[in-house]
Amino acid sequence: MNIFEKAKILGDGGRYDTCGPKSCEVKVRDSLGGIYHAKAENKNCILFKTLMSNSCSFDCKYCSNAKNSSKNKAEYTPKELSSIFMYLVKNLKVEGLFLSSGIAANPDKITEKMLEAVKLLRYKEKFKGYIHFKVLPGTSYELIKQASELSTRMSINLETPNKSIMSELSTCKDYKTDILRRQSWISKMKTGQSTQMIINNISTDKDIIKMADWEYKNFDLRRVFYSRFRPVKGTPLQNTPEEPLLRQNHLYNADFLMRNYNFKVSEFTRIMDDGMLPRIDPKVALAREYFDSAVDINQASYYELIRIPSIGPKTAQNIISTRQTNTITKTRDFTALGISIKRAAPFIKINGYRQKMLSDFCS
Ligand code: SF4
Repeated sequence: MNIFEKAKILGDGGRYDTCGPKSCEVKVRDSLGGIYHAKAENKNCILFKTLMSNSCSFDCKYCSNAKNSSKNKAEYTPKELSSIFMYLVKNLKVEGLFLSSGIAANPDKITEKMLEAVKLLRYKEKFKGYIHFKVLPGTSYELIKQASELSTRMSINLETPNKSIMSELSTCKDYKTDILRRQSWISKMKTGQSTQMIINNISTDKDIIKMADWEYKNFDLRRVFYSRFRPVKGTPLQNTPEEPLLRQNHLYNADFLMRNYNFKVSEFTRIMDDGMLPRIDPKVALAREYFDSAVDINQASYYELIRIPSIGPKTAQNIISTRQTNTITKTRDFTALGISIKRAAPFIKINGYRQKMLSDFCS
């Protein structure tokens, strides 16, 4: 098998590892596999997302690489991976590497090969760009430490929000030891870390949001990524229906509100029905739950302002400084502050009156 055939198979295998919300994961080249527009360190870039090997001795029920899978198997040597990556850097303007792997024999053995490839890139090829190193469950401390010194970002996939859901999907991964303990080690190293959870029909939104919050608080995570379940042919879950994209989007919205607006898990649980978020924008649902009546935009506190749809932390600050010299009354005041009247109107009043329609606002 030549190196381009390996790139196609291993690039395709890498697509299940999320490196951003859906909008950041646009495939650039289908013919080769694994080349995506993505966001790395808050910048748009082109990433080569690949596995080192797609053989795995683990049995995760959702995974196309699991043991006994009938897929074509491939594995790079460290030199091959470094050569194909540098070829892509020079010829296709690829700017970063996202490296993961199946656990071919045991986690340490394949991690040593991944590390060797990364060392070739850093020391021989003098590549200084973005490298995301996926830590495999159960990898030893020493190897994770070495990876941290060579990588820009690391992650280990949490996959499920708790131990009991993990045990329904895999008999091989020890949730506490293989995953949480490794996350705790990484949190003390210099490389920032993220993680990924699969959204499936056995995890509720409540389970997922609670665990994401716990992860942010305990491991200083940069991001939790959410990947909705989509059945893969040839796996034990091939006939399970895929999870809706809307559910994934709402979990990303909730995560954003927790990280950037400081919304609490208890606020989300109040709007849930049987552990699931409603099918509308979570911020609108939270505002309906929070406000008994409309709030005066010229008197509302910062805490109240950020709960109004279309008003974020920056806009809330701008409203507060504008109010020191002017009263907000006109459509153009809202436009200047970047507030969508349509979204905010149900929750605000001006000079004691609630404007029900756009035409009620003075221009
Ligand atoms: S350990 Fe990773 S690659 Fe292996 S079966 Fe599980 S999800 Fe797939």
